Amino acid sequence: MSANNGWVYETVEEMGARFGIRVTEKLLDEQTPYQHLEVWRTEHWGNLMLLDGVIMLSSLENFVYHEMMSHPALQTHAAPRNVVIIGGGDCGTLTEVLRHREVESVVQIDIDQAVTRAAERFFPELTARNDDPRVDLRFEDGVAWMRNAPAESADVIIVDSTDPIGPGTGLFGPDFLADCHRVLRADGIMVGQSESPFYHMPLMVDYHRAMKDAGFAERRSLLFPQPVYPGGSITGTLARKSGRLDEIRPLADEIETRYYSAALHRGLLDTPCFMREALDAV
Ligand code: SAM
Repeated sequence: MSANNGWVYETVEEMGARFGIRVTEKLLDEQTPYQHLEVWRTEHWGNLMLLDGVIMLSSLENFVYHEMMSHPALQTHAAPRNVVIIGGGDCGTLTEVLRHREVESVVQIDIDQAVTRAAERFFPELTARNDDPRVDLRFEDGVAWMRNAPAESADVIIVDSTDPIGPGTGLFGPDFLADCHRVLRADGIMVGQSESPFYHMPLMVDYHRAMKDAGFAERRSLLFPQPVYPGGSITGTLARKSGRLDEIRPLADEIETRYYSAALHRGLLDTPCFMREALDAV
């Protein structure tokens, strides 16, 4: 990422692509023990966070990603009581999970406390619920945490990670996914941020294969817009230990969403043909 005449750019060298956003002020520039954290004020997108030069979220559109990383998994599980979030330091996914009354506990494990501290300052709407008594915020490596977590102790695991570079690398690996499988109860569901099929199809194929090898009976990648990522879209891959992924409970009346609906969720389970071709071969 570079700032050039009032623009920040994220470049995806291997795809020959570059995405830019016009910025007006640098609000934070910090080398944490784990990654390079930046927050910018933009002209049109509110505040913008980057980690290691990769755009994470903006104030304007993060609701799409956070709703899609939470509600599909929670609405598929019959009774999601104990939820684990790996990564997710900006707390946007956590905010959505906490809207579900049936959730009794949420443990969030992000390796980098600096991300949460930055979200408190520059995205306060995402951290406003952090003092909910159901929340346990921990700052440690999610890979190690999952390795040591007790078997069959979670209903839903959400992996809201950075890209598979730097500290996020292990969160895409077979050992971590096998640990997620072990930690989920028999009817447990996981969802992981799994990049864009236009940019990272080989990664998605490897992710599905690792999930299958870990023992996940069914897997489905939901494609949705991500306006501030190069490529404009991203996937969340759902995987279930046993049982179906297409039995969706209606959303409770008190949960107001701006993107997610059960009907949209149902439609997204019908994977686009080009993705199905690659992923069904796994
Ligand atoms: N929306 C996002 C995106 O652009 O993909 C994800 C945002 S969230 C900020 C990603 C989080 O994953 C970061 O806060 C980062 O610190 C965390 N993370 C990366 N590697 C991790 C690891 N090994 N264990 C726990 N958290 C990790």
